[in-house]
Amino acid sequence: MQWAEISALVEENTREQVTAILEKFGHGGAAVEEWEGESNGSRHFIVKIYLPNKRNLKKTEGEIVQQLGSLPFKVAIAERLIKPQDWFESLKQHFGIQEIGERFIVRPSWIQGGLPESTRIILELDPGAAFGTGLHATTRLCLIRLEKHIQTGMSVFDLGTGTGILSIAAAKLGAGKVEAVDIDPVSVTAAKNNVKNNGVNEQVRVSRGTLSLARQRSLKNSSDLLLANISVKVISALSKRMAAVLKPGGRAICSGISNQGLDEVLVSLTVAGLKIEAIDQDGEWYAVIALKP
Ligand code: SAH
Repeated sequence: MQWAEISALVEENTREQVTAILEKFGHGGAAVEEWEGESNGSRHFIVKIYLPNKRNLKKTEGEIVQQLGSLPFKVAIAERLIKPQDWFESLKQHFGIQEIGERFIVRPSWIQGGLPESTRIILELDPGAAFGTGLHATTRLCLIRLEKHIQTGMSVFDLGTGTGILSIAAAKLGAGKVEAVDIDPVSVTAAKNNVKNNGVNEQVRVSRGTLSLARQRSLKNSSDLLLANISVKVISALSKRMAAVLKPGGRAICSGISNQGLDEVLVSLTVAGLKIEAIDQDGEWYAVIALKP
């Protein structure tokens, strides 16, 4: 698949705001590099993201331009199409071994050996074009909550599984059964491969679809944990169905929430009958933990 690289040259004091917008769109978040060019003494950075060159590329670009346009300063962006091997090279540069939370270490599948000696649980991932490397704050917020709430034998529903990272993590922490779904076929393929390579295919079932699948499979009141690292829109629209899938006493861990969308999510989850238990923050991103009474 061909990819579009979108990059913005920014100054140090505008870097965070621009990154916060771009990383919402980029596959695997945004990469920030110091710019080596001529810059009369002040530091400059290049913020880069990658988007699959698919039909909706122009629409996504339009949204990016619109959101950058709402900032109180001007941001120039450049775009180029890159070949699959260049995309992979770029991914390899930015995606390395990372320790996340207290329990996990994420390792890209192409790095063998070289792991620091530790008792951490290894999540080995080949993201391909799917989202979920742990580079993104929204994924990390979920992993940290997961290690806090999971107990051996629990049932987990992973809505929007991407690379499968959260399902693999849940299984390795002892979940009994994990239902992972994604509407994107590329993610389903990546997740299935990653689940297999991590040896958790007995526990994790990956399917293409969304929460309606839960109804088809009679999964009402079946999950102890529901993970949804998606977006304000999707979480708000699906709050009622998420609540239905949870057992009484079960928890929804919702992530991918921007500051502007936080209230909308809180209201939707509350209207769906869930009790807001906690709100976590990492930079510009929020995760909401809601309990089914
Ligand atoms: N769970 C991973 C990936 C999150 S990215 C992580 O935490 O890193 C969000 C994923 O949700 C994408 O793969 C996208 O294809 C999927 N998605 C978006 N809307 C969805 C919906 N309505 N139902 C199911 N999956 C959805």
